[in-house]
Amino acid sequence: MHVLIIGAGIGGLSLAQSLRKQQISFEIFERDDGADARFQGWAIAMHSIVDNLVAAFPSDMPDLRDSTNHLQPLDLPAQLSMYMPGRESRWGFQDSTKFPFIRAERNRLRNWLATNIPIQWGKRATRIEHDSIGATVYFDDGTRARGDILVGADGINSIGRPASDLLNVVPLATIVGELELSGEAFRRQLALGHSGYMLIRPDLGFIGFAGLHYVLPDGMSARYYWNFMQADHDIGKADDHWLHKASQQEKKDHILKSIQGLSPQFREIFEITGPEGIREETHIWRDLELDKVGLPACRVILMGDAAHAMTPFRGEGGYHTLVDTLALGEMLAPCLREQGGRCETREICMLMLNDLDQMGSRWFWK
Ligand SMILES: Cc1cc2nc3c(=O)[nH]c(=O)nc-3n(C[C@H](O)[C@H](O)[C@H](O)COP(=O)(O)OP(=O)(O)OC[C@H]3O[C@@H](n4cnc5c(N)ncnc54)[C@H](O)[C@@H]3O)c2cc1C
Repeated sequence: MHVLIIGAGIGGLSLAQSLRKQQISFEIFERDDGADARFQGWAIAMHSIVDNLVAAFPSDMPDLRDSTNHLQPLDLPAQLSMYMPGRESRWGFQDSTKFPFIRAERNRLRNWLATNIPIQWGKRATRIEHDSIGATVYFDDGTRARGDILVGADGINSIGRPASDLLNVVPLATIVGELELSGEAFRRQLALGHSGYMLIRPDLGFIGFAGLHYVLPDGMSARYYWNFMQADHDIGKADDHWLHKASQQEKKDHILKSIQGLSPQFREIFEITGPEGIREETHIWRDLELDKVGLPACRVILMGDAAHAMTPFRGEGGYHTLVDTLALGEMLAPCLREQGGRCETREICMLMLNDLDQMGSRWFWK
């Protein structure tokens, strides 16, 4: 039995590792020309499934924590903090033996997931055909591949789910900034939350997240990023929204005005970001909730953002993609080995979507 995986992101690669461990034949195809073709994102929190994940992967993988920890070379536990009105002392969660939690730098995580996986680069899937015995994927270079099951791990704009109108605009106007910090300024940010912190300020009309991307090798400086978000139901409607036309300086001025009521320690990261560090493009977040009733039984399975994209604000999309891997890895093996591939993929998708209904940190798909 042979599985085709479209997309070598978090979902596709983690599923590939799970299949590799179970010695199930697979091929994985990625549209990008190489590992560095696209920015992979900043950092991602992995918790509660870490042990299951490592157990589901082959033993030749390097240590997950050592390979991906965004705080290295600092010897500090991953830690995310939250601050809200009337609660300016820190609360949140931190890596501990009781609650293991890894904050992984995205590029390192992708490289770790790619360990010994033969990714076929430069393979953009353009079309899928499937019947009762298998699926065929066609690529823009004129080639094609045939397998017993095809897994669409191709992200939010999946070709396995062609109806882009299923995507909802998340009503948040977001401004994104990036900067490098050194010395005392870096130390002050670490004190607010080693890995990052959320500022929940409905009283001031915004939510902010400041996150450590990664520490530089000298341990004295680091790359940071932040998102400044305000509820805005018009953000997806028109190109004439002020944010689409605003200059980087105008975006910064808008933030400075909005954060006047914050104490200096929380204003700092926004104030010291130069206009050149503020992203020119406007980020419009989208999410997706598939109608479970309408899912067909077929040889194509969607996972990760292809099945359930979530706003980055929740910080859960990647986590649930990994949950899908665990569910799929366990479902596909007996299905492919014992039933000769005669499984109801609709049942698998249902289980994965049911898991999302739980919205807890454990995986309840069983
Ligand atoms: C700004 C931002 C911040 C986020 N922060 C967090 C966070 O803190 N925590 C968290 O858990 N989640 C976070 N997420 C969500 C997380 O990034 C996604 O949920 C996760 O990447 C989904 O993994 P995936 O494998 O399904 O899709 P992707 O990671 O998007 O991977 C899809 C892959 O498929 C490839 N591909 C696409 N189309 C084709 C095609 N036609 N043919 C071949 N290959 C194709 C793409 O190039 C890509 O490599 C964030 C998302 C964003 C945008």
